Amino acid sequence: MTAKHIPYKIYLSEEEMPKAWYNVKAHMKTQHPPFLNPATQKPCTRDDLAAVFCDACIEQELNETDERIAIPQGILDFYRMFRPSPLVRAYYLEQLLDTPAEIYYKFEGNNTSGSHKLNSAAAQAFYAKEQGLTSITTETGAGQWGTALAMAAAFYGLHLDVYMVKVSAEQKPYRREVIRTYGANVIPSPSDTTAAGRKILREFPGTGGSLGCAISEAVEKAVSTPGCRYVLGSVLDHVLLHQSVIGLESKAALEKHGLRPDIVIGCMGGGSNFGGLIAPFMGEKLDGKNEIDFIGVEPASCPSLTRGKYVYDFCDSAKITPLAKMYTLGCGFMPSASHAGGLRYHGMSPVISQLYHDGFLRAVALEQTRVFDAAVKFAKCEGILPAPESAHAICAAMDEALRCKREGKKKVILFGLTGTGYFDLAAYKQYNDHTMTDTIPTDADLEKGFASIPDFPVNQGLL
Ligand SMILES: *Cc1c(COP(=O)(O)O)cnc(C)c1O
Repeated sequence: MTAKHIPYKIYLSEEEMPKAWYNVKAHMKTQHPPFLNPATQKPCTRDDLAAVFCDACIEQELNETDERIAIPQGILDFYRMFRPSPLVRAYYLEQLLDTPAEIYYKFEGNNTSGSHKLNSAAAQAFYAKEQGLTSITTETGAGQWGTALAMAAAFYGLHLDVYMVKVSAEQKPYRREVIRTYGANVIPSPSDTTAAGRKILREFPGTGGSLGCAISEAVEKAVSTPGCRYVLGSVLDHVLLHQSVIGLESKAALEKHGLRPDIVIGCMGGGSNFGGLIAPFMGEKLDGKNEIDFIGVEPASCPSLTRGKYVYDFCDSAKITPLAKMYTLGCGFMPSASHAGGLRYHGMSPVISQLYHDGFLRAVALEQTRVFDAAVKFAKCEGILPAPESAHAICAAMDEALRCKREGKKKVILFGLTGTGYFDLAAYKQYNDHTMTDTIPTDADLEKGFASIPDFPVNQGLL
């Protein structure tokens, strides 16, 4: 098939949209080790998890056998407001790079939350409602997740408390107003509404807060409020499962035109969009049916896969969550103030970590000035102002397309464009003012983070 038969945007009809999510774990010969309860250092039981998370999400979290998990009609009813998302043939980017490669991107930014996070927010809010809960809590840093969950809570009729890192709430007042407009309660964290918040306020008066602190507050609020659960926007297996709609739609759209990707690229914060994008393609690779080159892109300022350790660590800096076996920089690692807020996480999804450990995908770390160069080129030629997180994938896709040009290879490259950058204009301002810098942690900086990894017996001999 020649290039000119492929439209600029490939859409799926409502009938062609996926009716089930894709559970890549059903194809993994080695599963990631289980979550551990930090008190006992034994695998978390369903009861341990049920105090914090919705029952249906726990079932999905622990499911290692079913390749397809049906998407309930109540979620499809919400998905149809913003799905399918377009798969775009990046003709103008190809032209700019003068590459023989074909570049496609799956654009998840066409909803008010501005990112893919709504795919899991919708599912988690639906299940909370179905379980008869009345409220949910979460934390948000940059604000994309809080916005997505506020939209979903409004759709399903749930009360939502968003613990928003205080500095973010102050720096991104408009993001905060979107969340409030959808009816959610925004609480700058640390706050006096929880014991964890009050303790931090006593110890560090005037602190701007942190994601770890906001998680502690949201979890405390959920477990101490009847009919309430906590909801997380990345990292966990069930979040990757919900995000598999991205990969399923991409695969269906490509197959309509007889296409198969040679390279699939996504940015990685906690790993949810990348995990979702690659899921159905990775399932085939694990079965020996393709040899796709999967590339996860992380910021050089927070390089959990490329420079982290594969050990058990806490998922939060306050050390209250279960322990997950994952690539981590240490739960106490403090990344520098990079602009890709959604990629500043110390750990990586256990599924992605295991696949990386077993050699089924590779990872690259990129510096933010290069990433913004790519973002601006992309904005000019493809028209979309990308989120700084998404621009990591753009930059890596451009690198691969240029490699194709050098090697004279006509490969099919697919990447995930996770969102738009309208709330990141302070970052673009720095870029335009030429005041943006790159901060790459030194080995000594990383050692400080590694020192915060718990010294439990389970980690001895691995460190
Ligand atoms: C949150 C976010 C990410 C990173 O999160 P993952 O869980 O790794 O997908 C990437 N892009 C955007 C636009 C985000 O909001």
